[in-house]
Amino acid sequence: MSGCIKWDSDKPLKLSKIDAGDTGGLTEEQARAKFLTVSEELSELQALMYGAGSHSALAVLQAMDTGGKDGTIRNVMGAVNPQGCQITSFKVPTPIEQAHDFLWRIHEAAPRKGNIGIFNRSHYEDVLVARVHNLVPKPAWRERYKHIANFEELLADNSTIIIKFFLYISKDEQESRLRKRETDPEKSWKLSVADWHERSLWDDYMKAYEEAIEKTSSPHAPWYIVPANHKWYRDLIVSQAIVERLRPYRKQWHKRLVDVGDEMKAELASSGVNGVSTPSNGNGKAKGKDKAKAKNAEQPEAA
Ligand code: ATP
Ligand code: MG
Repeated sequence: MSGCIKWDSDKPLKLSKIDAGDTGGLTEEQARAKFLTVSEELSELQALMYGAGSHSALAVLQAMDTGGKDGTIRNVMGAVNPQGCQITSFKVPTPIEQAHDFLWRIHEAAPRKGNIGIFNRSHYEDVLVARVHNLVPKPAWRERYKHIANFEELLADNSTIIIKFFLYISKDEQESRLRKRETDPEKSWKLSVADWHERSLWDDYMKAYEEAIEKTSSPHAPWYIVPANHKWYRDLIVSQAIVERLRPYRKQWHKRLVDVGDEMKAELASSGVNGVSTPSNGNGKAKGKDKAKAKNAEQPEAA
């Protein structure tokens, strides 16, 4: 297998068959050049989404320790206006979070319309670490796949464009990244005994990832398995996948944004406070606020 894998198969997922060092045949130079172009498009799409205010986007990032979630957020989201981003890192649940159902804290962090939300870890921890460490009984975590699928369907029905990434590094790459943290004084602050302990459970985690991805990938909330040993390739793949997911909405967002702008101009013109504005082009027709608001849940023109 090569490149990024969008998981939409009925066959069992075997992570061991995927090459975490894959670069899709690109050199670092080529990938970096492409990344710049894709980043520009991402920035443009985010601005349209923000202005239209009809949809939100949610990117879920999961990875083993050192897998590159932080770097991906920094590099990929570095392209977009921070005002339109909501980044949430999910750690061990606090006592108050533990006193609720596992999706309680997640739902609260879901991005508002117009925004891109990034989950740095997510509700998937509740079928990953919770399973590997037996934090809840097996029947409880098994039920969670269904709850997750229903929850994501609810978000999608509320105009959230979901995309889920597993940044897949090899076990050897993880070891070299952990060792680098020991030798690089600027990285040592990230060292953690827990990382080495979790590493010893690598195979259990891979099994848990395989099942989570198989059971919760859907057309409205697809999983992408991203070969992540090479950071420059990982960044390109993640930004490309987000752009491909948002691109079908471009026309719709643009139209809505122009419509709302024309409405505002018409309101201004009729208010008498500032004389001259009229709808300026054929794209948008001022037809009243209600019409613009009713378009909230429109689907893209091409999937
Ligand atoms: P980094 O190490 O790069 O700062 P991180 O995401 O690993 O990022 P940590 O503070 O090291 O952050 O770890 C967060 C920990 O919280 C992880 O071990 C993760 O498994 C754990 N965690 C997150 N969600 C849950 C959950 N629902 N139940 C139990 N543990 C969780
Ligand atoms: Mg950590």
